[in-house]
Amino acid sequence: MGVPKRKVSKMRLRTRKAANRWHAPSLGKCQSCGAPIHAHTACSSCGFYRDRQVLDISVA
Ligand SMILES: [Zn+2]
Repeated sequence: MGVPKRKVSKMRLRTRKAANRWHAPSLGKCQSCGAPIHAHTACSSCGFYRDRQVLDISVA
């Protein structure tokens, strides 16, 4: 069975775990309506993506 050769220090352990820590999603702003949106995603309030209408909001 594999056994660790030496103890992992607190700093090393915390540094490793810090890479997987949750962080709030960075939200951009819609160019047409100004609502907060995720990057590379069509705006859910006006349906625009890169100055173009891609979603039909009026039906829903
Ligand atoms: Zn929008």
